[in-house]
Amino acid sequence: MKGTFTFVEGDVHLQSLKVNVPFNEGERPLQQTPFDEGGVPTELLFRDDAYLKTATARVVAARDGQIELDRTIFYPLGGGQPGDTGFLVRENGERLAIADTRKGETPASVAHLIAAGSALPEVGESVSLELDWPRRYALMRLHTALHVMSCVVIAPVTGGNIAPDKARLDFDIDMTLLDAGKIEHGTNEMIARGVATESVWITDEELDARPELVKTMSVQPPRGAGRIRLLRIPDIDLQPCSGTHVANIAEIGGIRVIRIRNEGKRNKRVEIVLAG
Ligand SMILES: [Zn+2]
Repeated sequence: MKGTFTFVEGDVHLQSLKVNVPFNEGERPLQQTPFDEGGVPTELLFRDDAYLKTATARVVAARDGQIELDRTIFYPLGGGQPGDTGFLVRENGERLAIADTRKGETPASVAHLIAAGSALPEVGESVSLELDWPRRYALMRLHTALHVMSCVVIAPVTGGNIAPDKARLDFDIDMTLLDAGKIEHGTNEMIARGVATESVWITDEELDARPELVKTMSVQPPRGAGRIRLLRIPDIDLQPCSGTHVANIAEIGGIRVIRIRNEGKRNKRVEIVLAG
């Protein structure tokens, strides 16, 4: 898939292309190539396999309660999706709780945040990583559910957030057009199609050659990063996204709309939970 632009014209409903603000509005995008200036890049294992629950890695930096590794299964806060939590197990068997994961000092690095007072591992040490999988899987299901819901509510997305127990999108839309029952029904109907999700990688040049795709993003993807990832849900959604998603939307199960609220002129908030 790498570097291959497989987007086929016409396989996405036009309305999904109206989602012109990705979830990561205003956030620094995670660079998708290790070849940036300075710093040690982290290989993002979750990007190619969001289902990895454990992995081994080597410590490349450890200071100020933060650990950087040569590779990681921990997703760093971004795109409205919280950073992962879990454990890092040292060579001596000591288990360090990872309380949060953030983007590191350089665009391509990931910082694992360790609870205060814990002794940090040595640089060069080999460690095991254990993800809090139930939490992450709930985030993946809710995150993917937002992609689907953004194709049911046809309006620009002005914000979004995902938590382990609920998620929301803000739309620039008239309140009277938001009907909880209709949104719930429409989203669950799409989920029931059981479509497999796909990552589509495009290069800067390919994106340049597809200006109509760029129009869907009010936030331009980073230039010079080499490649940009889109999440495609065939016949439902296509948008740039670096988060973690379920392999098939059937895994979402279903959603319930728990609240619709006016959060401002351009922010009508729809909040959802997993139905089961
Ligand atoms: Zn996404």
